[in-house]
Amino acid sequence: MMRKQIAAANWKMNLTLAQGEALLNDLFAIPTELGENQEAVLGIPFPYLTTVKDKLSGKQNIYIAAQNCYSKRSGAYTGEVSVEMLQSIGVDYVILGHSERREYFNESNSMLADKVNLCLEFGLKPIFCCGEALDIREAGTQNSYVETQLIESLFHLTPEQLTNFVIAYEPIWAIGTGKTASSEQAQEMHAHIRSVFAAKYGNAVADSISILYGGSVKAANAKEIFGQPDVDGGLVGGASLIAEEFAAIINSLKK
Ligand code: PEP
Repeated sequence: MMRKQIAAANWKMNLTLAQGEALLNDLFAIPTELGENQEAVLGIPFPYLTTVKDKLSGKQNIYIAAQNCYSKRSGAYTGEVSVEMLQSIGVDYVILGHSERREYFNESNSMLADKVNLCLEFGLKPIFCCGEALDIREAGTQNSYVETQLIESLFHLTPEQLTNFVIAYEPIWAIGTGKTASSEQAQEMHAHIRSVFAAKYGNAVADSISILYGGSVKAANAKEIFGQPDVDGGLVGGASLIAEEFAAIINSLKK
């Protein structure tokens, strides 16, 4: 089985509803090709999930993602959004552990393990983000740093739960900076991530996991990065807010 190739948009905290709808109208007006093993995923703000879900009806291989969820099941957590709520409105994916959430909202590896568990229990697919800051890259310890993120948040899962899982490798020094990892740096880390899963879960599970690259992906560099053997698409921030850019990124997925 060919693992999925995915172009995922992360709008972050941008756009009004009207602006988001205009962006999607523009995006859908551009011809994009999504093959059988390819998906586009739209990571949009909570208030627009239902509206955008409705807009996607009849479209093939396009899904919605929440950008976060809470780590508890339900109850007295004013202002938080549960996985069950997301399930009840038909959300497909949840972006978990984005570096902005780790940094500004103190999300720890163990809290993310709780979020992963809830997503899997309710049948939502996590897009689990990992990646190192610049000082770690400069010290040359990025491989063990990312490995620890994976071990502490995911290694309690069963092989079945990790089959067809989605990881996003996002070096923090490349997010929103216009500075992309080279395709060699991306491939090296993606191969490392796959080997970490292979060592614990075996090759079949490791080969089924889609590993997306994130960090200043744009139309001009997507094809080269996605062309690497262990890169299965991208998680895209800034460029996902521009219809022409994101359409070209979708069309850069490898078949
Ligand atoms: C992201 O938010 O996940 C991201 C990679 O942002 P950008 O593409 O803007 O670097």
